Amino acid sequence: MRVDADVAVVGAGFAGSLTALALRNIGRSVVLIERGRHPRFAIGESSTPLANLLLEELADRYDLPRIRVFSKWGTWQRARPDVGGGLKRGFTFFFHQPGERFGDDPDHERQLMVAASPHDDIGDTHWYRPDFDHNLVREAEAAGAIYMDETAIDRVAIDRGRSTLEGTRLGEPVRISASFVVDASGPRGFLSRSLSLDDRPLRWLPPTQGLYTHFEHVTRWDKLRPQAGAPYPSDDAAVHHVFPGGWIWMLRFNNGITSAGAALTAATAAHLSAADAASVWNRLLSTLPSVREQFADAHAVRPWIHAPQLAFRTSRVAGTGWALLPSAAGVIDPLLSTGLPLTLLGIQRLLAILEHTSSGLGHEAALREYERITLAELDATEQLVAALYASMDDVPLFKRLTLLYFAAASFSEASRRLSRPEQAPGFLLHAHPAFGPDLHACAMIALAGPRGRARDALLEEIDRVVEPFDIAGLLDRTRRDWYPVQADDLIRNAAKLKASEIDVERLLERCGFNPTFREPSSPRAT
Ligand SMILES: Cc1cc2nc3c(=O)[nH]c(=O)nc-3n(C[C@H](O)[C@H](O)[C@H](O)COP(=O)(O)OP(=O)(O)OC[C@H]3O[C@@H](n4cnc5c(N)ncnc54)[C@H](O)[C@@H]3O)c2cc1C
Repeated sequence: MRVDADVAVVGAGFAGSLTALALRNIGRSVVLIERGRHPRFAIGESSTPLANLLLEELADRYDLPRIRVFSKWGTWQRARPDVGGGLKRGFTFFFHQPGERFGDDPDHERQLMVAASPHDDIGDTHWYRPDFDHNLVREAEAAGAIYMDETAIDRVAIDRGRSTLEGTRLGEPVRISASFVVDASGPRGFLSRSLSLDDRPLRWLPPTQGLYTHFEHVTRWDKLRPQAGAPYPSDDAAVHHVFPGGWIWMLRFNNGITSAGAALTAATAAHLSAADAASVWNRLLSTLPSVREQFADAHAVRPWIHAPQLAFRTSRVAGTGWALLPSAAGVIDPLLSTGLPLTLLGIQRLLAILEHTSSGLGHEAALREYERITLAELDATEQLVAALYASMDDVPLFKRLTLLYFAAASFSEASRRLSRPEQAPGFLLHAHPAFGPDLHACAMIALAGPRGRARDALLEEIDRVVEPFDIAGLLDRTRRDWYPVQADDLIRNAAKLKASEIDVERLLERCGFNPTFREPSSPRAT
């Protein structure tokens, strides 16, 4: 079988299929190559406001209305209830002491809830990737991409003008010729191996391991521990159970399945070491009695995955005629759900280049810049996530550090929605002349494990850094670490966004944020 195309996209996860789909809509011929077969399991399920905004922006720019519906819970449920997903109203954190039952005080010292949306209809989502990715690949095919699944490519010749990929599909030889190769095959993937790209060592994050699967019958935390007045039902969120040396995530889908897993430092993993991932998980739960309660009736519905080295990054990201998507260039950690927005930012940038060229020829400088930005964003993410790992035994500091993330995320989203993206340069505002260096400095101090006065100074410094970007009441300590989304916060802080109050009110109206609407927070039954 011989195929000629403008662009070969290797890997038909959400990112490869979305890239192929957008490329079709700007008239490029595309071959989308997948070694497996859909529907299939994939990890990386929890979206964020920025991820959804980027999905919306891509859908608008490349005329993909059927993709746009997935950017909000309400439109998704109305248009495509057949595609499994979960409601994500925000980020929920519970902090545990190993061996102790979870207990908290009225000031919520051992929790943090940050809403990302004011009500369910415009809430964010978890993507049930077997359905979500399958749907995207179908859309790409319907748009005219040549889809080759169960295809193993084992020879690649990347050339400046035209590349050749050779391998087999269902036992038959295949030869694909393309002007540009996009690697969407995930970490340690296709081009990393075939071009022997070196791994670039992580500099700040300790070695971590991951173990994860999908479960049924996980009991809701808010059923076991109802909390009156919470900003949203705690389980309609990305739930983080944090403990010294690691954390557990829980993402609930609307099909009865809950994605759960743990990211552990190598030291914690060694301490829990057992014959297989399921046994490590059981040993971990035996140290976290309140989390174990949630899993009392649960069972895994697919095999466990153990990732002995969770984090990864390459040294190179692009060259003439080829580029790795950010998800193929690096994975830091699931903490704070950074993978999907980083990948979508990369797709957006790469498409902007491929709009002008189908080979990359003449656009070498743009590809070098794509590489520089991708690596810089992975660095900034790693620094913040590493600082959080270093603070897992210091709950107040951990919580304060997350405010850097929430301030950057909400400021970036609002700036982009106000059509002022230049105000919010780079993921986590890392390229902002003030916020970027301050974020780096705070992370470096946290990594050093400050104690006493140095620690107090860091807490104060984080407040100082966050303040000019805080449009969500993050520094309001009377909220006791429960942060709802309130129109008043945004309107009051319009000047920080260089906008008028009326601009912000119009923005809220456009986004479906009804300022008078307040949803009652009540636990739901499973
Ligand atoms: C444990 C864990 C949890 C995570 N959780 C989150 C989260 O909650 N939120 C978030 O934002 N991010 C998260 N991430 C990051 C997230 O997984 C990625 O950003 C996301 O999956 C990237 O999607 P993708 O389509 O690029 O790659 P993938 O989902 O990895 O898809 C790659 C596809 O390429 C195919 N492929 C691989 N090699 C080849 C080859 N040689 N030839 C052909 N096809 C090939 C694979 O079969 C697969 O279908 C997490 C990452 C990990 C490791």
